[in-house]
Amino acid sequence: MSAVAAPRVPDADAVRDILRGVVDPEIPTVSIVDLGMVERIEVGPERIEVELLPTFVGCPAQELIRGAVVDALASFGRQAIVGFSFRRPWTSDRITAAGRERLAASGFAPPAEPADVRCPYCTSARVAMDSVFGPTQCRSLFYCRACRQPFEAFKLV
Ligand SMILES: [Zn+2]
Repeated sequence: MSAVAAPRVPDADAVRDILRGVVDPEIPTVSIVDLGMVERIEVGPERIEVELLPTFVGCPAQELIRGAVVDALASFGRQAIVGFSFRRPWTSDRITAAGRERLAASGFAPPAEPADVRCPYCTSARVAMDSVFGPTQCRSLFYCRACRQPFEAFKLV
């Protein structure tokens, strides 16, 4: 082994591991990997490209997320090209099982069409939208008629 360590050569898995530490500030308990936002990772000799899918409509967080991804990739010592893509729509199917658990544990219903929203506490479909205007532009307030808990759901793009 040489004492002069070459820069760590990253691969897509190493990049993905780093991205597990990046969260959407709207949902700080769930990483962008678990949200299914990471569409493509490409590692070249000079640079790392990451393509992200935007999730929720009206969220001001996209620039923050992009910056956080660039910061996270800085440890690899290569140029990082990070951008949002609209090549395909993000859907809630892309959220991992771990991501769903963490969303529910934080009192968030996974994003769904309003008719498909279920209570994150008791999974009842007997829910009512309290207001289309949630605490932020990208969330709506719901009320569960079964367990009487209020909760938040994300609006889909
Ligand atoms: Zn409930």
